[in-house]
Amino acid sequence: MAEAADVIDLTLDDSSDEEEQPVVHGNLNDVPRAHLLAAIDTVPESRLRQIIKKLVDEEPAFERALLDELVTVKKRTHEAMSRWGICDNCEEEFDVSELHYEDECTYHTGDLEVDVDQFADHDERCHGPMDTEENRRSFPQGFYWNCCEGQGADHPGCEVGQHVPRTPETKRRRI
Ligand SMILES: [Zn+2]
Ligand SMILES: [Zn+2]
Repeated sequence: MAEAADVIDLTLDDSSDEEEQPVVHGNLNDVPRAHLLAAIDTVPESRLRQIIKKLVDEEPAFERALLDELVTVKKRTHEAMSRWGICDNCEEEFDVSELHYEDECTYHTGDLEVDVDQFADHDERCHGPMDTEENRRSFPQGFYWNCCEGQGADHPGCEVGQHVPRTPETKRRRI
């Protein structure tokens, strides 16, 4: 938090409250890296993506480094693909380019349902719905998995397998 406050100090001129002054870029040469890292933490994602694409256009070394980080090529087919995926089963991030193991992914095949016995004094008319993201997080024991009767929203899973990268099609299907 202290770092974020420092970032604001950089862009505000002390004289700015006397008169409306446009904020202009001063000399960035002596700014410690911590400020840049703090700015990376707080910049809106869409702006960050836009800046990265601009740098890819303008800086060949940056383009090469980012290619290494974000893209992988399949050995056999030479097909290029995004290196970082979200698993369609466990919803965790994983590196597509890493060696895959038979038991790397633990997940449920069914859906999470409300265990009404655990919500004994809960009246949806005054307390609101039982099945909310907030309740799943703060009261995991109030839910069970209908595939295996596994108790708790945080139950690790009843199936074991490999991560499966989520595609735009599977994402749409889930929503
Ligand atoms: Zn299950
Ligand atoms: Zn997975």
